[in-house]
Amino acid sequence: MSGIELLQIPGPTNVPRPILDAIAQPTIDHRSPAFAETYRRVAGRLRNVVGTVGPVVIYPASGTGAWEAALVNTLSPGDGVLFYAAGYFAERWRALAERLDLKVTVVTGDWRRGIDAAAIAGALENDRSHALRAVCVVHNETSTGAASDIGSVRRALDATGHPALLMVDTISSLGSLPYAQDDLGVDVTVAASQKGLMLPPGLSFNGIGPKALEAYEAARLPRFYWDWADMLARADDGWLPYTPATNLVMGLDRALELLLVENSLPSVFERHRRLADICRSCVAAWGLEFQIVEEAERSDALTAVRMPEGSDADDLRALVRDRFGVALGNGLGPLRGRVFRIGHLGDLNDAMLAGALAAIESGLRKMQVPLRSSGLDGIAYRMAEGPGR
Ligand code: PLP
Repeated sequence: MSGIELLQIPGPTNVPRPILDAIAQPTIDHRSPAFAETYRRVAGRLRNVVGTVGPVVIYPASGTGAWEAALVNTLSPGDGVLFYAAGYFAERWRALAERLDLKVTVVTGDWRRGIDAAAIAGALENDRSHALRAVCVVHNETSTGAASDIGSVRRALDATGHPALLMVDTISSLGSLPYAQDDLGVDVTVAASQKGLMLPPGLSFNGIGPKALEAYEAARLPRFYWDWADMLARADDGWLPYTPATNLVMGLDRALELLLVENSLPSVFERHRRLADICRSCVAAWGLEFQIVEEAERSDALTAVRMPEGSDADDLRALVRDRFGVALGNGLGPLRGRVFRIGHLGDLNDAMLAGALAAIESGLRKMQVPLRSSGLDGIAYRMAEGPGR
């Protein structure tokens, strides 16, 4: 096959060449002044991306590790935790909490919508003894393509006067969708490297607010690898309790420079919004159904598209991958075979997205999925109207 393959899954995303080059530098001594300087710079800039003046811990782990870290650093065995479950990733985080012997309360949401903060408020009102110690939500549910309003969850906690910690999974939103831990009143942010931050998988993060640091002091769940205090004790000197993923941290240094210095977060968010708009207009032209019903809840990071009854989304994915070299996200959990997901986050431009959408349209036609119209005209029009690269 000639040319490049397009990585159009909702993470891991394309890693830009300058970041690959940074990662390919010779590995350095992680106890050296040079690494300490890089780490200090990275930790500082990461705070800007998370939107906090507090500490951000960097783990050599995938996002799942940072989920676990958020819970084991703040909670004790038997503590109550509320999960809003309306997607595969919320369900996985809940399952993790159950294995840690936390007492899980689930508010079951609709996999075709974003978070219903009123339902969370209802559950908090019922918890008069304040047995719930944390509320865990996913900002951008990567399995359904719903981006939720975290402010509305904060307001639900405030309106009920409930003291639970608010923990937010931003794994597929950080660096792609507007988010600011401190402004939103979030106590723990969970994030990872392989999506909006444009790195390969392998790093994950906890942004830690003051209330969460307080909870740490009383939290009795066992922890060693994930322990915040160990990670923070000498972090300002760039000294970490175990070997950091040195080269990924060097890549992150370059990624943060690209995001914050050579671009700006508002311009990156605007690019995501515009590319999402191009994708959504194309899907609408095809006449296929969006997984997320409400337009306002559709994520700017990815779009989940429902296949018509009788057509298998995995057949389309295989066809588009094998014939055109375009990788699409699969349907997860109950959405397997029913949904395909188009990632439009990270390092991406109009022409890449247009290529992927053209490949999908061809695949749909080859499978004889009835389409209302071609989406390609609309793409060309929007590209002509846009600012280009
Ligand atoms: N949460 C969300 C929203 C995700 O999209 C993912 C992965 O795609 C995860 C959690 C799990 O992260 P990881 O696979 O890096 O452990």
